[in-house]
Order: sequence, then C-alpha cells, then structure tokens
Amino acid sequence: MSDITIVNMNVRRQTSKELPTGALTLVSVFENEGIEVDFKDYAEKKRNLDLFNIKNTYNYLRNTKRFLLISYLANMRPNLLLALEKLKETNPEKKIILGGYIQEKTAIHMIEQFPFIDVIYLGYADKTICEVYKRLKDGQSLRGIGSIVFSENNRIIISKKINRTDINIPKPAYHKIKIKDYDTVCISDSVGCPYKCTFCATPTTMGSKIYYSPISQLRKEITTLYDKGVKKINFIGESFGINKKKVNEICNFFNEEKMDLKWSCYGRINYMTKEILQKISKAGCYNIFYGVESGSNKVLRTIKKGFNTTEAMEKIIETKKYIEGVRLNLMWGYPFETMKDFMKTILLSAKLNAMGMDTGLWLLSPVTDTPIYEKYNHRMRFSPDKICIRYDYKEIKKDEKLRKIISNHPEIFTDFYHYHSKNIDKKAAMIKITSGGKKYEI
Ligand code: SF4
Repeated sequence: MSDITIVNMNVRRQTSKELPTGALTLVSVFENEGIEVDFKDYAEKKRNLDLFNIKNTYNYLRNTKRFLLISYLANMRPNLLLALEKLKETNPEKKIILGGYIQEKTAIHMIEQFPFIDVIYLGYADKTICEVYKRLKDGQSLRGIGSIVFSENNRIIISKKINRTDINIPKPAYHKIKIKDYDTVCISDSVGCPYKCTFCATPTTMGSKIYYSPISQLRKEITTLYDKGVKKINFIGESFGINKKKVNEICNFFNEEKMDLKWSCYGRINYMTKEILQKISKAGCYNIFYGVESGSNKVLRTIKKGFNTTEAMEKIIETKKYIEGVRLNLMWGYPFETMKDFMKTILLSAKLNAMGMDTGLWLLSPVTDTPIYEKYNHRMRFSPDKICIRYDYKEIKKDEKLRKIISNHPEIFTDFYHYHSKNIDKKAAMIKITSGGKKYEI
C-alpha cells in the first residue's frame, strides 16, 4: 500500500484548468521505480473552493499519506506554508517535500525559517527524489543526493545540482487523471534559456544551456494525448524556435500525422523569423507568446532584453500575418523606470490592444537569484494594494495571518512584493484608471 501522496498545487490562473504535467511526471518517476503513489490535484478543486484560503489548504492536505510531496507555484506559498505548519503540529510524523519552480536562495531561507519542511528539491526531480523518499523512510542521511536543500544536525545542506542532460524525464502518469477534466495541456519541449534578462531567474533555476526533449518522446506523448481526445496543446519551453532543426522536427511530425490538433508556443522577438512563422503556422500553431516587457528602449537595454520596441513591433505585425493569436507580456514598476518610461509602456500596451493583440500589463515582482533583485532588494515593499494580479490577493487583504507571514519573510515571498520607486503610487493610480480595474488591475 502506498505511503506517499503527490499533490499538484500549480495554479497559474484561478480560471484555467491546466493539466498537472509536472506533478504527473513525478508520479511516473516513482512508478518507474516500483513505488506506488497516491495523486491529488488541488487545482482541480478550484471550481468550488477558494484555493488561497489557509483552512481550505489545510483541510485538503490533512487527507494525505505520511510522505507528502507537493509541487506548487509561489502564488500558493503563504497559505501552503501556514497550512503545512499546522499539519506538522498535528502530525509530527509527516515528512514534507516541496518542489516546483523554487530558486536556490529561496529554498535555503525556507528550510532555515520553516523547519517543518523536510526537503526542497530544485529544478527537476528525477529518480533521486525516490532516493529522498527511501532514505527518509529508513531514517538515513540525505547527503550525497543531488539538487536538494535540507537541514541536518542544525546545518543547512545544499547539494550539488544535477545536470538536466543527466535526467531522464518520463511520460506523465496520465492514467491518474481524467484528461477531459482539463482544458489546457502543457508539454515541455525544451528547458533552459541562454538569455540573461535581468528580472528572470530561469537561466539560474533551469540552466542557461537548452535541453530539448527528444522528438521521439514528444511524438509518443502528443499521440497519447491526441488519442485521449486532446485538441489543443501548449509547448512551454522558453526556447522554442531557437533551434531550427528542432522546429522542423516538430512541424514535420504534425504535418505527417495530419492531426486535428492546434498548438501554441513561446517565442522570442529576436529569433522568430518569417520562415519559422510560416512553418509553424502550416503545422497547426494557432497562438504565440512574446515577452516584450517594456515600451521604453532604455528599460529594454537595462534589462538586457536584446531587442528594441521598433523590432518588437515589426515582429509582432509579421507574426500576426501567420498566427491567429498573439499574446504579449509587458511589465511596469522596474526600480529604475521613470515616469516617461512608464508612459511609453502604457502607450505601447494601448496600441497593441487596439491592434487586436492579447496584451498583459503586470506589476514587476522581485525574484531572488536575478540581477535586479541583487541590486534593488533593499527597495522591496509589501502592500496588499500592489501585488501582481497574476496572484489572488483578495484573500491576502482579508486574512491577517497571510499578510503577517509575507511581511515577516520578504526573501521567501518576493512574488507578493514590488520595488519601491519615486512615482510608484502615481503609476498604480494610472494603471487603475487606464484599465478600468479589469485585466490591468494591480
Ligand atoms: S525572460 Fe525569457 S528570454 Fe529572458 S532569460 Fe527569462 S526565459 Fe530567457
């Protein structure tokens, strides 16, 4: 009988029903080692629960096995940690392992300040996560296992990172869920990013070398999903399109199979060419996402984005000729952003929306292990009125416990902070006016 529960708490949006690919991959990792696991998808509960409520989180996690492995996103961290603290108090025998997209520095602070967490894994978990489980079960030391952070004899141990190329990622355990309950299926086509945008931790967390999923693996995975009735997939690799050979392989597969299936991907303004756009459009790509990040060339240079607004606009117009949907990301609230820079971003956002693009305009939140954070973390502020809308902050306004944990541990809850700058309140007020408090609400 299983004594481990894997829980998916990756919720990008309250409204999307995203298939829990990462957590299901973890399930497969265990099953391939002959270890039976239970699987629970907390996100699936969102249809009738407030996911960010501490009590709801606690009640949900109460019904889990002795070993609890949770894959989560940072938006869930305040209520998750408060719920886990209570869970460990009432069930001291519980072993808690956390993972997801957690930066090393954040993990160190978490292990240090929340000792009820037994282990945090960094980046990708492969079969070493099974070794963690086995050793915890046998009461053995975790030393020597790669890519984890834990505490032993009152010392924080950060083990050596495992190379992504040494990891064998299996097909997610789709048999644990009903695929028809989900409307978004994400597939990892590549991981890692060679760029160095100064607000982004992907190169340090996932690696600056790109690892591409082999086409044979993608073929199998997509065919399995298609046979189960999936009609749309999202490729979530940050580096889709950098390698023309890989793009050709994927496009050839879709063209050969003649599937009634549409797909989306991430792109980067500076490497998406007309040739690639034509090719992916013909192979079923219906939507592409670009991070434009600012309407100010000065800001784009400072964050080392590698292109300017003219190039961005040209590429977006070119893309629209071939791809039905273009989603764009812009951010405001950079610590070095002047009012003039901010206005340029507002204008670009309005222009893009008028052109029919789906443009998100978000307040920048600090991320540890990034150059901007290293330089400006002394300017971090927490205000329940200024949290990136990607996170549900209504519960934070209501619950003092959430506000307290966030205020007391800035280096752990950076996602709920912003960088203070001279005109931040003025900018926030303008965002509210220009957006009508809807999509662009802060
Ligand atoms: S923002 Fe995108 S391109 Fe820039 S470093 Fe992060 S993943 Fe790479």
